[in-house]
Amino acid sequence: MSSFLNSIGRLRAPKRSPNQTPTAGNGFFDPPSPGAELTGSPPSPSSAPKPLYLCQPFVKAALVKGSFKTIVAPPKYVDVNEWVAVNLFDFYHNLNHFYGVLTEFCTLNNCPTMSAGPTLNFLWPDQNQRLVSLPAPTYIDFVMSWLQKLLDDETVFPTKSGREFPSSFAYTAKHIYKHLFRIFAHLYHAHFEQIIHLSIEAHFNSLFAHFLAFGKEFDLLVMQDLMTQQGMGQGVAELGEKWRDMGILET
Ligand SMILES: [Zn+2]
Repeated sequence: MSSFLNSIGRLRAPKRSPNQTPTAGNGFFDPPSPGAELTGSPPSPSSAPKPLYLCQPFVKAALVKGSFKTIVAPPKYVDVNEWVAVNLFDFYHNLNHFYGVLTEFCTLNNCPTMSAGPTLNFLWPDQNQRLVSLPAPTYIDFVMSWLQKLLDDETVFPTKSGREFPSSFAYTAKHIYKHLFRIFAHLYHAHFEQIIHLSIEAHFNSLFAHFLAFGKEFDLLVMQDLMTQQGMGQGVAELGEKWRDMGILET
């Protein structure tokens, strides 16, 4: 794993939004779960237009054919924590690349909230731990910067031989998953048209399906923690369901 993690320092920094600085101290507060709000009533499933990512042919666009089961299984003799750490790093790195090509569309004007459904927004805690709505680029910038710092922290992601993973590693991994999921959710909800326009929907779907499969395998993904119950039917949670129905993901 060390070769992966040692390369973190050489990664480019996530693109930062103009004039945005973290809110206080080191600026990165942990949003208590679920940290999501519904603005108004969720649309009824029958009246709401179907999001493009749930429509054919986009819903089945993927680079990976067949089961993700093999991809997510840890190689023999590899420590599970090590395997989770490597994969977290890869998901972060790959998602950051997608976000990098979408930043010109994900602006303060276009995305004034961290939306993930017609009436679903994710919130971020301010210095008083009060959950507030932030523009999506600011929110994503906070998450990516927090994550880069975390992945670079030897006490959380040890790279030197003889150093153990902390006992809190499983909790941290779940937490990272929650935040990455929210970024996926926003990009699907607000930027899928641009993703199609750039012809990267198969890559993006494959990354997200891999992310969901890995999260399920290692119990990192607790859907109830990611959205409010009422918000479940209006975001990418539905995409995961659809992929399970289509056999792309295991049930
Ligand atoms: Zn956006």
